[in-house]
Amino acid sequence: MNTVRTHIPKFQKLTSCVTRILGCNPGHMTLQGTNTYLIGTGPRKLLIDAGEENNSEYLSLLQSTLKETNSYISEIIVTHWHHDHVGGVPDVFKMLLNQEGSVAEPKVSKFPRMKAPEFSLGNIPYNFIKDQHVFTTDGATLRAYYTPGHSEDHLVLFLEEENSLFSGDTVLGEGTTVMEDLSDYMKSLEVILNLNPKLIYPGHGPLVEEPVEYVKNYIKHRELRESQIISSLKESLPKSLNLSEIRTHVYKDLNESLHTAAEKNLVLHLDKLVKENVVETYEENAAQKWRFLNRPSL
Ligand SMILES: [Zn+2]
Repeated sequence: MNTVRTHIPKFQKLTSCVTRILGCNPGHMTLQGTNTYLIGTGPRKLLIDAGEENNSEYLSLLQSTLKETNSYISEIIVTHWHHDHVGGVPDVFKMLLNQEGSVAEPKVSKFPRMKAPEFSLGNIPYNFIKDQHVFTTDGATLRAYYTPGHSEDHLVLFLEEENSLFSGDTVLGEGTTVMEDLSDYMKSLEVILNLNPKLIYPGHGPLVEEPVEYVKNYIKHRELRESQIISSLKESLPKSLNLSEIRTHVYKDLNESLHTAAEKNLVLHLDKLVKENVVETYEENAAQKWRFLNRPSL
């Protein structure tokens, strides 16, 4: 696997109203770490994502940035509930309260989770927003779009002044993202394409300079995989296939160490196809099976 990653500086002013501060939490899932962004040309900033919990390196970077620019945070916008995006919120609160001349506590805004409880922030309340909520500060108008798939509560933010997009974990600067629901995820990619951003600021990895092309490739890659799955199921009719049989059809000479990951990915695709009534699934002798539904989809 390719582990060479683009270097991302821990702190970088990217445009007149966007400063990136790296979460200082590099790892297998977080790549170079979580990208957090301070937004606004004036002293009142919005913070997009707050990194993970207990990361003193990140907190001191954030603190010194605020000090040097004589600014404060009025609102933290969380792209989704994963701990590497929201976990740092209580620490950021503590840091802001200890800061001289600090103002009222910032709001913590996100879309609500529907199926499970929120990541606990202790006694800090969430401010739940609706689709297309607009956040403003000097030099920045950010519109939130509901884009589930990576997680059920995911949002992306379109910065109207730049025609740029903060994509959270829906589009990464490198590698591929994991997801909860592929069907929702594909729809969310369409939402991003329709916004036609000129630049993507991802939740992990470097900036995406040609986002439309990049997102189209994400979609193409998934569609190719889907058509491989469909044709393997079609060819097997009237028989149904179990997961390892589908895997053998789709990933021809895959190293055994990657079988589990491949099957996980196949299940995401199969769930989507079942949801869309292209494929049916049932249990037979304690094994899950899938069969192509031999009728035109509506
Ligand atoms: Zn995530």
